[in-house]
Amino acid sequence: MRETGIVFDIQRFSLHDGPGIRTTVFLKGCPLRCLWCHNPEGLSPKPELMFFDYKCLGCGTCARVCPEGALAQGAGAKPRLAREKCAGCGRCAEACPSGAWRLVGRTITVEELLSLLERDALLYDRSQGGVTFSGGEPLFQPDFLHAALAACKERRIHTAVDTSGYAPWDVFERIAPLTDLFLFDLKPMDEEAHRRYTGVSNRLIHANLRRLAELGRPVRVRVPLIPGITDTEENLQALLALLGEVQGRILGVELLPYHDVAEKYQRLGKSYGMPSLSRPSEARLAELRARIAQVVPCA
Ligand code: SF4
Ligand code: SF4
Repeated sequence: MRETGIVFDIQRFSLHDGPGIRTTVFLKGCPLRCLWCHNPEGLSPKPELMFFDYKCLGCGTCARVCPEGALAQGAGAKPRLAREKCAGCGRCAEACPSGAWRLVGRTITVEELLSLLERDALLYDRSQGGVTFSGGEPLFQPDFLHAALAACKERRIHTAVDTSGYAPWDVFERIAPLTDLFLFDLKPMDEEAHRRYTGVSNRLIHANLRRLAELGRPVRVRVPLIPGITDTEENLQALLALLGEVQGRILGVELLPYHDVAEKYQRLGKSYGMPSLSRPSEARLAELRARIAQVVPCA
């Protein structure tokens, strides 16, 4: 219970990360760098500042309180942050009168987390919901994740883990008995394309999926549907081939249609590498679901 982790968000009343009404706990840190990542604030394992410039009054308070000299500001102008100097202390966010800075990432103990989760225990029971650990990559903090899952199990809270699948098998093996549901992402199926768009090979990911299916743990595959990247005929054929291997041993597939999150990157001072793309149409989603459903259930 003394184990600590770094989380960047805890969302109550979540309806899209597993069955029922859930709390989604977002752990910080991820070994992948997917170009379309929806949670860029979860990539670095360290606390980071987000800036909401439309809230800034130009008062200069943040620059005055920063002990590292990381914030510079001309009269009446908005502050400029030298991220390499920032120590993540959060003083600027505390001092800002309009909430223009938000420090994302805080340390939490398993005990603190469980007392937050227990507030919604009745809701979990009534809706057959529970807690989902997401990220970032939750397996990137294996000791904290293990301890948190064990504490949830003790309290009979349903647990789901939303993972990129990119972690050593021994980490999966350790948490598998404590995890009631794996939400397992599959990105580009071609290894070279996977490296190009996420920064890592997909071999370990596919091997882990096969092994989890062999273990008989409940797994739902999730496919982010990115036009021209994962939404291509070639990718679909390769996906269907892998799904055929685990057919009957996974619960099914969920498609996650692409949407643009460029604004979040801007707030973190990061650049968004995706070209301008449209969300896949409902007709296309229906067509893909029907084709995948010939192999495994698809939502
Ligand atoms: S303290 Fe807040 S409102 Fe004032 S300059 Fe800094 S960010 Fe803007
Ligand atoms: S988090 Fe701390 S070190 Fe970083 S800019 Fe704010 S006050 Fe300065």
